Amino acid sequence: MSLLEIRDLSIEFPARENTVKAVSHVSFEVKEGETFGIIGESGSGKSVIGLAVLRLLQANAKVSGEIYFHGQDVLSLKPSELRKIRGKQISLMPQNPAGALNPVLKNGIQMGEVFEGNRAEKKEGMKKALKLMKQLFLRDPERLCSLYPHQLSGGMRQRLIACISLSFEPEILIADEPTKGLDPEAKAGAVDLFTRIKKEYGKTMLLITHDLDLALEVCDRIAVMYAGEIVELDGASKVLNTPLHPYTKGLIRAQPRNGLVPLSGQSPSRIRLPAGCFFHERCRYSNIECSRKHPEMKNHRGGLVRCCHFRSLQ
Ligand code: SF4
Ligand code: MG
Repeated sequence: MSLLEIRDLSIEFPARENTVKAVSHVSFEVKEGETFGIIGESGSGKSVIGLAVLRLLQANAKVSGEIYFHGQDVLSLKPSELRKIRGKQISLMPQNPAGALNPVLKNGIQMGEVFEGNRAEKKEGMKKALKLMKQLFLRDPERLCSLYPHQLSGGMRQRLIACISLSFEPEILIADEPTKGLDPEAKAGAVDLFTRIKKEYGKTMLLITHDLDLALEVCDRIAVMYAGEIVELDGASKVLNTPLHPYTKGLIRAQPRNGLVPLSGQSPSRIRLPAGCFFHERCRYSNIECSRKHPEMKNHRGGLVRCCHFRSLQ
């Protein structure tokens, strides 16, 4: 059963006389118990989708399409209904754990602050958070609570944020770039952390990342985004081991273990998207048809791919 369903979602931001097309006609669903990954370079529109699910986009964002959580239409929820699901049923682990924590408050105090309700309810919330901290390798959580955020490593801050997010027992956890800015050791720790959240807690997750190792390790299915649209969607292992779309192939070649062959060129301007395939200016297989016709999403062996020539490129 699908817990989260996104249908034909488009998001635009006005910018002076122009409009920035952040997300174009994106559709996918996240099933219960599944970890669904959205991968792509910075600025491909991944984080904007996460924010849209929680209705946290800036007020001038123009959103069209549909977002369903448990069958309820998120985009038409009243603020009071939204408050009931935000954090509690859908929890967001923000991109920057350092920025998410108040630097002048001790970790324990700010952890306590996020739990609403009377003293007993707050105490109960803290108890759950401390238990999670122990389970997620934050040894000696009481001592950690007596420290300030800057006294924790990047990896520890991330675990603390994960514990806070999970202590609400959300039905779905949205994690935005959880390994960004972490050193290699902390990155390995993050893979372990998300594997545990998935296996031991059976949590449904939407994992937004540019980290393909993390995606391969943790995700069940993956959508690859380029210039605001999905260009490939399938099982994680299929997408990352036998990619169909030239952009996905380029992303994989750019990984350190594959010799760090960078993708040449830059993503197109989102104010003036090119005619034809959005990737054609960077694609080594591009031909005249690619610069004229915008490729439709095609079904292929249970997955989806948006490239006119993917069959001949396999
Ligand atoms: Fe490359 Fe053409 Fe496929 Fe776009 S449609 S990815 S330009 S081959
Ligand atoms: Mg982002």
